[in-house]
Amino acid sequence: MKKIYLFPLFFLITLFWGCRSGTKEGKMLSVTIEPQRYFLENIVGDSYKINTIVPAGVSPETYEPTPAMMMKLRESAIYFKVGFLGFENAWAENLTKNNPDVKIVNCSEGIELIYGEHHHATGKSEGEDEHVLLPDPHVWSSPKTARIFAENMYRGLITYDPQYEEIYRENFSKLIMRIDRTDSIITRLLADIPSRSFIIYHPALSYLARDYGLKQYSIEFEGKNPSPAQMKALIDIARKEGISVVFVQQGFDTKNSVVVANEIGAKVYRINPLAYEWDKEMIRIARILAGKQE
Ligand SMILES: [Zn+2]
Repeated sequence: MKKIYLFPLFFLITLFWGCRSGTKEGKMLSVTIEPQRYFLENIVGDSYKINTIVPAGVSPETYEPTPAMMMKLRESAIYFKVGFLGFENAWAENLTKNNPDVKIVNCSEGIELIYGEHHHATGKSEGEDEHVLLPDPHVWSSPKTARIFAENMYRGLITYDPQYEEIYRENFSKLIMRIDRTDSIITRLLADIPSRSFIIYHPALSYLARDYGLKQYSIEFEGKNPSPAQMKALIDIARKEGISVVFVQQGFDTKNSVVVANEIGAKVYRINPLAYEWDKEMIRIARILAGKQE
């Protein structure tokens, strides 16, 4: 008799617990930046609380962890790191050492990385070899790489939480459709534009440029403000290539961007590649390049 009643009871508790807090002990998931929260929320719905480490308006490349944030990270079931962004690897190492229970997922795995063009103003620890070649970390800024990025998140999630695999798979395929849609809108927008070159303060759109046949020029030189000679060289290139778009990102210098834009008669556009609504911002960037956005 007992057996007959125990099974449904256990099943009900599981079901109830599942509905109430999502999964195991109401644990949360951590991500580095907001676009990751967007991808993850599309997959898990509201069954997990998602903690974004880098606050809005702060550059993840100069962000320094607070003890409170470290605590949240320790309490997470999974930490989805972008891959090679600023503090991430030092943190992940620390986390693995002190909290082996926290699963770490590298969202850049399997992405063909770009080397040698991206420099950080900070983020180097003392004694670190200056010549270690680090990849460009901004892998989420192209729909083609974002597809692999999101899949890494999905796979990391179902390894930890296989119980809900079916739901997650369905959500994930909808997310992929959304990424594909973004890809085709951007492809269409960029099909025939006056100049395929653009200027940006910090080179955060390298993957977009590579995947859609654009040329990105950064104002920043090796992570620092440019010298007058470097500014002049950039202005010459911009004139030659008919550049009409200068991007600036939140948290970065705008003075030099305005100077360059004025020199070449281009317009300065403020963008946020760290926006939560990843697809909207990607499409907006493409519209700007296509001359279709005010
Ligand atoms: Zn960067």
